Amino acid sequence: MSRLRSAMQRGKSVVLENTEVKKSSNKKKTKATIKEEETSEHSSYHFFNDLPEISAYRSHLLQWYDQNKRELPWRTVAMTEPDVNIRTYAVWVSEIMLQQTQVATVIDYYNKWMQRWPTVEKLAAATLEEVNQVWAGLGYYSRGRRLHEGAKKVVSDLNGQMPRCTEGLLKLLPGVGRYTAGAIGSIALGQVTGAVDGNVIRVLCRVRAIGADSTGPAVTEALWKIANTIVDTERPGDFNQAMMELGARVCTPKSPLCSQCPIQTHCHAFRKVSIKQEQDSKRLQSKLASKPNTSVVDIENCSAAGSCNLCLSEDWDSKQGVQNYPRKPVKKAPRVEKTLTCIVQRQRGQETEYLLTQRPSKGLLAGMWELPSMVLESDLSENKHGDLLCTMMQRFLDTLLGTDSFQFVGEVVHILSHIHQTYVVYSVCVSDCSEKEQEQNTCWLTKCALQGAAVSTGLKKIMKLYDSSSKANTRDIKRKLSPGDGTEKQSNKKKKLKVVAANGGPKQLSLSKFFSTSKQATKTKSKNT
Ligand code: SF4
Repeated sequence: MSRLRSAMQRGKSVVLENTEVKKSSNKKKTKATIKEEETSEHSSYHFFNDLPEISAYRSHLLQWYDQNKRELPWRTVAMTEPDVNIRTYAVWVSEIMLQQTQVATVIDYYNKWMQRWPTVEKLAAATLEEVNQVWAGLGYYSRGRRLHEGAKKVVSDLNGQMPRCTEGLLKLLPGVGRYTAGAIGSIALGQVTGAVDGNVIRVLCRVRAIGADSTGPAVTEALWKIANTIVDTERPGDFNQAMMELGARVCTPKSPLCSQCPIQTHCHAFRKVSIKQEQDSKRLQSKLASKPNTSVVDIENCSAAGSCNLCLSEDWDSKQGVQNYPRKPVKKAPRVEKTLTCIVQRQRGQETEYLLTQRPSKGLLAGMWELPSMVLESDLSENKHGDLLCTMMQRFLDTLLGTDSFQFVGEVVHILSHIHQTYVVYSVCVSDCSEKEQEQNTCWLTKCALQGAAVSTGLKKIMKLYDSSSKANTRDIKRKLSPGDGTEKQSNKKKKLKVVAANGGPKQLSLSKFFSTSKQATKTKSKNT
């Protein structure tokens, strides 16, 4: 089975070669099989086999890291926190937050989280609602939920003690995979293990010229083998962080900074590009001098090229340079989805309130609050929106609404990793009605409460659109209101009331600062004073 898989990875020529082998003799077939296994096992070109080289690699990388590393809150905790339990918990939180999210975005969320739940016990005592609230805006909400589940498990099953080894982390904590366990184990517990994340995949594929599909099992295993071989035994946590830091800041996906790279001398991809450039320039010189070119250096290649399951599966593209590595399979196009959404608002005294419903506790955006919504069938005509909105509202409200109660606000595009979402947004103002008994998991929230609730970025975008459309309507009316005789004033007054009512009644406040941060609000205030 594994032979079949590797043959498929190597492409048609190898399949043909194996067919030939099958047709000939059993003896030949056995030899071919052995050769193939030897190739994938012992193709030293893609691995580190030389101890002095490994030692030099570690030293070059760590020296660079010591001089260039960014000061990050979780790194400080890992370095200074004497309590191994708190240290492991803190690194676990940072690693989960950093999955799929940039360092700059994570810092504030991490600080807020650790301030609120500085220990695993404190996190275990929180509610999922609180966790979602703090996580709101960070995306991939299942990560927060898993941290919470993990904390509860540590408290109930392990007496509040975080696992003390990579295997334990991997086995006991939900949402902790091979990479996360390796990162926590090496950074917080000093375990000598590699940690292969997206940045490390890129660095190692370039350093060892691994050009086969970087998501395939053969490459994955090879990368882990390399990572476990080269990790520094004295400073495993720093070494792994240095690899990641290098991938994030020097060996970047686009425009890698090879001239500033501390491990340039160990990099096969860099060497290939340099030799290729040298060859081209010598060929040009010979051509100009009309002399045969005799001193061209050969590009160093894998000795098993052609049958190696780690080599480039497609031709080398000179324009790409080191970016020939890593190779990824073509991404699946995201699912296109249209969702009908309604902003339902009502007045309660001085306050405007918005109707929210809670998503199921499992699946996408689990447990988050959202506006009443429904996914639209792709070929549905816009004329049907009114009827659908009426039906949808019957699920949530006691009052029956007519199709003319709804106002079209606009469309909001929100792109998730696997869904290209378009929200078709309507609004409606309701009075003297209440939500149906709590079976639908609904609530009314004021603007202020909404700001701190566990709501998604998609909802925030919708409210921003609503805010700007309300402002535009108000501006439109103001323009039309020119001074004139009493009759005109009277009719304008009527018009204004009509529009204001359509936007939520005279008591509605502007939503302009609705989602602005307190920092921004303070800035504006100090600017105005
Ligand atoms: Fe990446 Fe260039 Fe450094 Fe090689 S030399 S590891 S390609 S930055």
